[in-house]
Amino acid sequence: MTSSASRLKKLRTRVRQHGADALLVTNFHNVTYLTGFTGEDSFLLVTLDSATLVSDRRFTIQLAEECPGLDLVVREPGQLMLPTVADLVEKTGVELLAIESASMTVGMQQALGELAPDMRFVLSGNLVEQLREVKDKSEIEATRLACRQAAKSFEAARALITPHTTEKQLAAELEYQARRFGAKRLSFPPIVAVGARAALPHATPTDQRIEDADFVLVDWGADSGLYVSDLTRMVVTGRLSQKFARIYEVVLDAQLAAISAIRPGATCEQIDRVARDRIEAAGYGKYFGHGLGHGIGLEVHEAPRLSRGQDKVVLRPGMIVTVEPGIYLPNWGGIRIEDDILVTKSGHEVLTDVPKQIDDCHWG
Ligand code: ZN
Ligand code: ZN
Repeated sequence: MTSSASRLKKLRTRVRQHGADALLVTNFHNVTYLTGFTGEDSFLLVTLDSATLVSDRRFTIQLAEECPGLDLVVREPGQLMLPTVADLVEKTGVELLAIESASMTVGMQQALGELAPDMRFVLSGNLVEQLREVKDKSEIEATRLACRQAAKSFEAARALITPHTTEKQLAAELEYQARRFGAKRLSFPPIVAVGARAALPHATPTDQRIEDADFVLVDWGADSGLYVSDLTRMVVTGRLSQKFARIYEVVLDAQLAAISAIRPGATCEQIDRVARDRIEAAGYGKYFGHGLGHGIGLEVHEAPRLSRGQDKVVLRPGMIVTVEPGIYLPNWGGIRIEDDILVTKSGHEVLTDVPKQIDDCHWG
């Protein structure tokens, strides 16, 4: 069975359990996951015995390349999406349609309801997203590649840093190097934060220069085609202060402890707790103001989430999560270390390979 066929099969079981006749997949990434098609503006209707992609003429060649054999309704110029979907729903005899409440807008639902007045809707929160939590072999390989590309781009960009390099220039270099090493792009606009700016967990690069402070936080990842990586490393570009060394060791210790605790059956809250306990014990609890990590895959942030409140979510083999504790001190800066971890049958495997002992942080 192709990966697309086996994913559709699993999805149909869930649609049936939901009591619906079909699911209209409107989330872009979910369409890609189920069909392999990467173009925009296309919806997938999955009934209990069929799957039809509603796309348009711009994608004719791409559709033949990416999802040969898939049933298609190709819209002609001027033929609108929702009336086309309404026709299809009518033809396939769907009475109770599950819709993706996270991507379908109220306006779209209202319009579709007017076009197909006999049909009823049921909201489905995340049927496809739940399937996406556990990665198959091909997804794991694509993630490995994204991790390697990220490591190489960092190494190359880091070697080119000078005291005059700005945050923006380093961000540009990472992007360029990632593409040179075969990535489609970086998986998100990178965070490059010099000194005190690193206290902002989501700082955007500015014209601040490397020489303006003693260290820089770099958070970046590569997109190998469909699947992404997500890492954070610190680079010490000036004097390595005792304060930096102390906080770095706390963050690294918390990260390594949390990674060691990753195994099937552990809850996402437990893993977060392991890192949080270490940081709290060192007296920095209130400076770790975000969850420990998140799933990665087709998107940079997806389920599961390693954070408080996730005590019902259990890790399973095939999940890939980031582990990224951080300590952020206003007016001083922040330290975060982030790696990507695969949950395996017997425990875990660290997919990202970029040195992170404190001596490895020295630039040059
Ligand atoms: Zn990150
Ligand atoms: Zn992350």
